[in-house]
Amino acid sequence: MLGMSALKFLEDVGCCRRCILVYLGDRSDILYAQLSLVNETIQKFVQQLNTDEEGVVVCSQDYSSSEYKENNDIKKTIVNDQNEVCTDSDGTVILSKNGNLEHIVKKQKCAVCITCIGLLQWGCSTDAVKLLSESVSHAGHDAAGFTLALSFPVSLSLRVHWIWALLLQAYPQFPTKGRDDHVGTIKDVWKNVVGPQVAAVVGKTFIVGPYQDFVLNVTSTYIHDLQDCKIMDQLCGNMFASRQKQRRKYSNGVYSKQAIDTAIKKLSDQEFLKVCSIPPSIPDEAISFSSLQCLHAPIYMAGRYNKYSRDLPQTPWFVEGERKLESSVQELLCQPLNKAVCAEDIKFSSSGREDVDVRCLGNGRPFVIEFINPCHTKFSREDISKLQNLINDSTRLIRLRDLQIIDK
Ligand SMILES: [Zn+2]
Repeated sequence: MLGMSALKFLEDVGCCRRCILVYLGDRSDILYAQLSLVNETIQKFVQQLNTDEEGVVVCSQDYSSSEYKENNDIKKTIVNDQNEVCTDSDGTVILSKNGNLEHIVKKQKCAVCITCIGLLQWGCSTDAVKLLSESVSHAGHDAAGFTLALSFPVSLSLRVHWIWALLLQAYPQFPTKGRDDHVGTIKDVWKNVVGPQVAAVVGKTFIVGPYQDFVLNVTSTYIHDLQDCKIMDQLCGNMFASRQKQRRKYSNGVYSKQAIDTAIKKLSDQEFLKVCSIPPSIPDEAISFSSLQCLHAPIYMAGRYNKYSRDLPQTPWFVEGERKLESSVQELLCQPLNKAVCAEDIKFSSSGREDVDVRCLGNGRPFVIEFINPCHTKFSREDISKLQNLINDSTRLIRLRDLQIIDK
């Protein structure tokens, strides 16, 4: 019964329900939101695997009964759609191999998934959705839709590789279609579970797919990430020892995702399992969101200005840290405009430099303003005309004309 045995393996090793379904090779995005549906689908996959196996001689080791011995049964209880609780009877799970090697895992009251480190558990909970929604709402951007971008700890991809190697060692016939871009699938599952929930709270459309105009960038971290990655020293000692020596060169850290992926690709599963013969440690806490950042694509405004004063520099004028003149063309234009746009930063550029004491008459000098991470981006012609009048009414030093939103 390949399906049943593999399912038991994944459960015993400490995978959450959503992760189990990803191992089974499911790629349908929608069903992951409801754990009841996840469980139903797991059963279907398991039955299919059992059926497919008929007539095939399975020469796998039964990992759960021979190599991998638990002295306690892990009892899994589905508490609700968001949380999964695993307990064991005396609090210690001992995994033993050949009676020599023992790996003691601390008691997990609320077991954090050994693969996703809680990303598809806590990371999909109502608490997590609340954090994400508040971040979008407080940022105050006027975008109608949003996408999600997620970065996660390096150890997550190491763990995925690790569990796959153990799973295939135990069940060589287990279908490997779920292994291709498994980490990408975890990301997609997370986005598709939380995205619609955040959308319902913030009143914006969740857009599946690559970054468009407005994105919520989520950085997730795991407190023991570095500790997990140290296993690479045993797997590929030379490579990581030399990276340690040249730490300054590797700004992304000695154990970057790319370095670990590259190192692992060079190893066969057999070589990998020589060092990683037992599962990785069960995380004692879930990943957390260390940074939530809303980012809107820039918008651009262009126009022309005349300058009538001989005491007005183009940009703020400082000499040895001391301000020379009170104002500048840039400030007279950008400050009122940014009051309306509420951008994080602005970049002003005009065609050519002009001296302080030179006036600019005629058709005026063309300029472009880039508004970086703007909150308000939707301006009608009337709005733009009002902004232009506001600036022209506020000063006699310059005159603004042809103000408009441009693509770039
Ligand atoms: Zn998981």
